[in-house]
Amino acid sequence: MERADKAGLDRIVVAIDGPSGSGKSSASRGVARRLGLRYLDTGAMYRAITWWMLRAGVPVDDADEVAARSGAPGLEIGTDPDAPTVAVDGVDVSGPIRSREVTNAVSAVAAVPAVRQRLIMLQRAEIDAGGIVVEGRDIGTTVAPNADVKVYLTAHAEERARRRAAEGLAGAKVEVNLAQQEMARRDQLDSGRATSPLAQAADAVVLDTTELNLEQVIDRICALADERVGASGAC
Ligand code: C5P
Repeated sequence: MERADKAGLDRIVVAIDGPSGSGKSSASRGVARRLGLRYLDTGAMYRAITWWMLRAGVPVDDADEVAARSGAPGLEIGTDPDAPTVAVDGVDVSGPIRSREVTNAVSAVAAVPAVRQRLIMLQRAEIDAGGIVVEGRDIGTTVAPNADVKVYLTAHAEERARRRAAEGLAGAKVEVNLAQQEMARRDQLDSGRATSPLAQAADAVVLDTTELNLEQVIDRICALADERVGASGAC
């Protein structure tokens, strides 16, 4: 955390958006660690609500029902980049929210305006104090349009699927082909929804990570943060 007291850096907001498998999580955590900032995984929040809906037997394709129940689960999100956590009604769900069942249901739940309204309010409450790296789909466009640094990460679809398959979902590895199909479906739903879809902010820096390793991605984003707050090259 040694860098966070640098002038300006302690209040900086870094927004990182992009489709699934673009490397957002590893890059965002890495940048937060290196700059001594907090880290907010907004996808984990949508996943946690989805986990609760599935467990409560709410049909996730019934938008009215999802909206009616969207205020029920209590949500707590930890912002330590070394140990990000998410809990629902006091239960740590960091593991279960990565299951395939949740992954394939989350886009439907995330498309419901009442869900987004609630989560965006919670996200802004965390972001307000600054000193944070936030990853998601709509951070630069909707959640934090005044973010100091906006990055849109992309990678070729095959590379994204390969990464996702290698990660394994809740311990069970999926085939690259299947991962690619499921990701394409999720990206389509996330980009096509009416309320704050996955989109590149007009003022975002686009970074294609297909040919870059993690350190290179972190280097580039840190350099943008340094540039923005006028720090010189310690990144
Ligand atoms: O980033 P991750 O893959 O964990 O996100 C899971 C899902 O949460 C996305 O597919 C999307 O439907 C939703 N999401 C969203 N807006 C965000 C972050 C995630 O709609 N800011």
